[in-house]
Amino acid sequence: MAVVNALSIDLEEWYHSELVGGRRSRFSQAAEATKPILDLLDRYQTKASFFVVGEVAEQNPDLIRSIFQKGHEIGCHTFSHKLVWNLGESLFREDLERFHLLMQKILGRVEIKGFRAPCFSIDNRNKWALKVLLDFGYQYDASIFPLKISPLYGISGAPTRPYRISFEDVRKEDSQSPLMEYPLCPLTIGRLKIPISGGFYMRALPRSFLYWGLRRINRSQPFLVYFHPWEGYEKTPRFALPLFNRVISYYGISSALKKFEFLLKHFRFVRLDQTLGLR
Ligand SMILES: [Zn+2]
Repeated sequence: MAVVNALSIDLEEWYHSELVGGRRSRFSQAAEATKPILDLLDRYQTKASFFVVGEVAEQNPDLIRSIFQKGHEIGCHTFSHKLVWNLGESLFREDLERFHLLMQKILGRVEIKGFRAPCFSIDNRNKWALKVLLDFGYQYDASIFPLKISPLYGISGAPTRPYRISFEDVRKEDSQSPLMEYPLCPLTIGRLKIPISGGFYMRALPRSFLYWGLRRINRSQPFLVYFHPWEGYEKTPRFALPLFNRVISYYGISSALKKFEFLLKHFRFVRLDQTLGLR
């Protein structure tokens, strides 16, 4: 029996990425960039969790309705895609308030169970965010990146499989906690941990290594994939960014959708709320 993995799409515009240096655009590419992803999910009869940025939903209400009607999970990726540790508690509450009002307008009274912070921006510095999520009725968070490899995010020592997250220390499990956490699950080889199942890491690694690594993870547990529509979209604008940002942002965009399809073909996926037994 194939292991059931979790599939998430962070539904944002190319300019929401931290690495493009605050460039903005008036034109939304989200609908066009998301369409091939939705088509592939239909073709492989797979449902995913879409963590939606409110600004995208505001410009594309029909896109959100169609994702929802297809049976995918709608989660929250904040309204404005500002990093949670930069917002502070009261602005974070305001941001979520705006997101929920908008979703109510677009989808009616739909329960939103899952949250992912932009750029995995929850760690012990802003663990207050967990209480805020609880106040807004969330049942799970998916913002913990359990290793320190990027200068922007990551917290080493956190569990690498779903756990009830402690409000005192996000790296700890607390069996009484009302909030589940679905962290990224890296590939472990000896003492080496490699986050192969999303974003730049997934775009950069050769398909054969990806297949081998993900199968290896599946020997003991499921993994969680995250993907962004702009990562698989040829028309994502390319800027002369500093080398590091350029490589992380643009490497492998032209083959990313093929790789995404490769995963759908060879692994089994469901929505995050389903893998957590929340519906
Ligand atoms: Zn994001």
